[in-house]
Amino acid sequence: MPISFGRPHPQPQPADERKIVVAGNWKMNKTYSAAVQLAQLVDDRLERSWKNSVEIVLCPPATALRGVSNVLAFDKSFAKVGGQDCSPEDSGAFTGDISAPMLADLDCTWCIVGHSERRHGHGETSEQVSAKAAALIRAGIAPIVCVGEPLDVYDAGSTSAYVTEQVRASLAGLDLAGRDFAVAYEPVWAIGSGKVPTPEYVQDVAAQIRAAVSEVAGQDCAKRCYVLYGGSVKSGNAAFFTACADVDGVLVGGDALDADKFIDIVKAVLHV
Ligand code: PEP
Repeated sequence: MPISFGRPHPQPQPADERKIVVAGNWKMNKTYSAAVQLAQLVDDRLERSWKNSVEIVLCPPATALRGVSNVLAFDKSFAKVGGQDCSPEDSGAFTGDISAPMLADLDCTWCIVGHSERRHGHGETSEQVSAKAAALIRAGIAPIVCVGEPLDVYDAGSTSAYVTEQVRASLAGLDLAGRDFAVAYEPVWAIGSGKVPTPEYVQDVAAQIRAAVSEVAGQDCAKRCYVLYGGSVKSGNAAFFTACADVDGVLVGGDALDADKFIDIVKAVLHV
């Protein structure tokens, strides 16, 4: 499906100047002990020589963050730990919520916010996503801000406008200068469905995302931003997405729950 390009977008940094991000979103899967076991299996298969080429981020459930970060620290792994969500508040009477300073204390250096399962399952707005990302930035954690259109928007050919507005609103007011952050393009209809958009489609949307980041945060931030693709990423399709000029990595759900499948995705994007 064609997407119109409304404005020029900044050129991303040359691919060889930045790492490819491969982030695994384990969602509400794995008990503490199963998560520790999975982290160990993944880390055992990571080649240390990949360190400068790929940023691996494991995002277990909050209950397993300490266990996973202990495994990675003990192994002196280059893989990073990430949260799946956080509160916009730093502390206080917010029963059940987890704050960004708490995540930082568990060695999280990345955290997903605005996943479609939060936006659509919990009614989160882009304004709330922005407040969560601001809390992460205050705590020194790099946000992975998820955006993506539902099927009816895709079918209507309105992806570009929808996603661009999500990016603008989700990044509004953030102090992103000089910081690592990512925007993950995850079409809602592609998540867990086995269906994926074409790489050309993903490239068009990724370019629009980078242009929207430039509008909101300036060209330097847009160049620095990691634009990820997520939604039914497998070892057989991952490299098609990361070959896109504006795509800097992948966010993986289902296949992040199996060490072999996850490592096969890493190998595919590194062409090793
Ligand atoms: C996700 O939910 O972030 C995701 C990408 O899931 P899956 O890979 O299972 O489609």
